[in-house]
Amino acid sequence: MTPASLVPATGPAPSFFGMSRDRLRRHVLGHGVPAFRAEQMYAWVYQKHVRDPLGMTNLPRGFRESVSGICDFALPETASVHKSPDGNTHKFVLRLADGARVESVSMRTPRRLTFCISSQVGCALKCSFCATGLMGLKRNLRAHEIVAQVMTMGDHHGWRDDRFNIVYMGMGEPLANLAAVTESIRILHDERGLNLGARRVTVSTSGLVPQIEELAKLDLQVGLAISLHATTDELRDELVPVNKRWPIRMLLDAARDYSRTVGRRVTLEYTLLGGVNDSMEDADRLAEFARELPSKVNLIPYNPVPGLDWKRPSPAAVEAFAERLYPRAPAVTVRHTQGGEIWAACGQLGGLTPEA
Ligand code: SAH
Ligand code: SF4
Repeated sequence: MTPASLVPATGPAPSFFGMSRDRLRRHVLGHGVPAFRAEQMYAWVYQKHVRDPLGMTNLPRGFRESVSGICDFALPETASVHKSPDGNTHKFVLRLADGARVESVSMRTPRRLTFCISSQVGCALKCSFCATGLMGLKRNLRAHEIVAQVMTMGDHHGWRDDRFNIVYMGMGEPLANLAAVTESIRILHDERGLNLGARRVTVSTSGLVPQIEELAKLDLQVGLAISLHATTDELRDELVPVNKRWPIRMLLDAARDYSRTVGRRVTLEYTLLGGVNDSMEDADRLAEFARELPSKVNLIPYNPVPGLDWKRPSPAAVEAFAERLYPRAPAVTVRHTQGGEIWAACGQLGGLTPEA
């Protein structure tokens, strides 16, 4: 293979990170390159973590020198990395090709490393306590921009962890960008790529019922987290406006069907807002919901957003709420803050990052 034999690209080279292995095979074939070269490139990038084509030593030299013309290996620029005081959490701000910024977070606990990734720039759904919602929707992310967040964080941590989890809990509503999100999941799953098992991926949604049904049909087997946050439609209409379209009953039914189809427990996320949704009656109703389907409850004490008036409940109130749930609900975890206010939830991203 010489550079001259590579059929030249007509437009800008597409990103490597948005291509499934199958699509990459077809892509290189279209440029006159045998498909097995795509397999080799996948192994270099995702298994040996070599992104510079010149270092892909089992590819012919001429091909290595010219492949960037048909396929772009660059990741978005990392505008900044903020580290929590305890060093376990890193927040990454990525600047995309059009100048848009997205945030991703890595969180290390003694048991695992988790990457929290964004699916949109902003969000249209305007939940009343969420910083991303305040931005409105700027645009959907493309599959390569989602995969690139994982690659950036993996590079930063040196790929020393052979196991990590991915949660779609950053900026945006993943199910409002289902095509790019499912494409990114397929790329991350590929056994000859990063080989990330379905059990290691969780998608969080504020409750887009038709898309939950669609996700179940796609047979990706990923975990589902439902942002419930209220136990009455009256309150949920206010906190999560999409509830007016798909109220709690429809959402829980969709979640139950999902868990049945996929054979996994669904996570019920519940952001605790002091004096708003943290009463003992709320805990009792939440426990009832949790018992209706194979589920676990994840309590998230509200993470203050500048300009919004909600209050984080005191640690005693969080504990009282959790204690009330424990005997009644199947499984309860509390998401504790890590090293400071801004790290408590991925979901409060956006608007909090100092301009880099
Ligand atoms: N759009 C999706 C996923 C991103 S948000 C969703 O809404 O599910 C991840 C979680 O953080 C959601 O449960 C979200 O409601 C929650 N969240 C948003 N803002 C928050 C805040 N300020 N404090 C605590 N949790 C918040
Ligand atoms: Fe969007 Fe989720 Fe924020 Fe609601 S909580 S505005 S769905 S990112």
